[in-house]
Amino acid sequence: MSFFFVIPEGNLLFVTPTESLALAAASLSATAAATLAYAALSPGSQLFGRTLIAGSDPNEAALTYDDGPNDAVTESLLDTLAAHNARATFFVIGRYARQRPELVRRIRAAGHLVGNHTETHPWLAWQSARTIHEELRACNQAIEDALGEPVRYFRPPHGARRPAVFRAAAELGLTTVQWNVMGMDWQPIGTDRILSHIDRGLTRARSRGTGANILLHDGSQHGLGADRTATVASTAALLVRFAADGTRTVTVDAWG
Ligand SMILES: [Zn+2]
Repeated sequence: MSFFFVIPEGNLLFVTPTESLALAAASLSATAAATLAYAALSPGSQLFGRTLIAGSDPNEAALTYDDGPNDAVTESLLDTLAAHNARATFFVIGRYARQRPELVRRIRAAGHLVGNHTETHPWLAWQSARTIHEELRACNQAIEDALGEPVRYFRPPHGARRPAVFRAAAELGLTTVQWNVMGMDWQPIGTDRILSHIDRGLTRARSRGTGANILLHDGSQHGLGADRTATVASTAALLVRFAADGTRTVTVDAWG
């Protein structure tokens, strides 16, 4: 018996009662181990704490971009969004924001929302409470140094969390944000496959009567300079479609 999750920027994570993620002691039942893994890793789980995913209007979509800012890719994305008069949410990595404060300012000046994606992009579910707090605090500081305004939204790397993550977020005044649609664009799969993943997610979100919170990446946890050309092209294609079908783009604070 095993369970798996699709983890952003990772591979499928298989959880079995014997390997059980170090979360679960050997004495835990398979069901308990699966429940802990679900609570820590499933984007939709609310077991360890409340997360913001989407609002109740199926005609709203939030384009969200993680792991930037990333130089030319982010700039190209800003041009694409501006061409369609769309606003998006950027969950930036603090150590990149420190290196590229002017690009963070450009994102904000274009009307987009800038959120916290930690200082160094660790798996928070396995970190100490002190490290978790420091990762969130340092990223807030980097963004606030660039923008001169407080940060309100946070997305945990890989979506991984545990109760200490929610405590740290609450102490820093941050709302924790997940997603309900994934482009799987951290893999080099090309525009068509990114769009087909998003299409499936959009159909699922609409069938559930909710808005779409679409997870994409303008950068990479592994360093500045990652090629995200396919993400930008996918965004352009989506925005053409949204204009045709009446979907409105929103930033996640519209739901918070
Ligand atoms: Zn990330």
